Amino acid sequence: MFGLKPDLSLEVFERYFTMGDYAGGEARWCPGCGDHAVLTAAQKVLRDEQQRPEMSVCVSGIGCSSRMPHYLGTYGFHGLHGRALPVACGIKSRRPELDVWVATGDGDCFSIGTAHWIHALRYKYGYDPDGLR
Ligand code: SF4
Repeated sequence: MFGLKPDLSLEVFERYFTMGDYAGGEARWCPGCGDHAVLTAAQKVLRDEQQRPEMSVCVSGIGCSSRMPHYLGTYGFHGLHGRALPVACGIKSRRPELDVWVATGDGDCFSIGTAHWIHALRYKYGYDPDGLR
């Protein structure tokens, strides 16, 4: 939780980021859409971690949830359908110090993007289903 270190001393930040620091444009999802809650949760995590907004990148593909980079006050990349994960992997491989987020929906991730999703897991965890490594 914010500011409290494991030894129970309080960390004093030079600058404290608020939820407003992670706000982007006005979210235009349908009222009651679950994406509003996901956006708020992401902003709360960033605030709780006191992550500098310029040290995070939100990457998306196509679909309602993929409008997330427009609404999150970080760097963002609104990419192609099903291709959010390759872009995110590329960013992380070149700039490992950045916190890379991916917003993707069912069609984007589990339909056209299925192969990229599997390969992203393989790159991350070294999964080799054929044992060919
Ligand atoms: S996913 Fe899209 S269509 Fe469905 S409620 Fe959210 S904004 Fe509306």
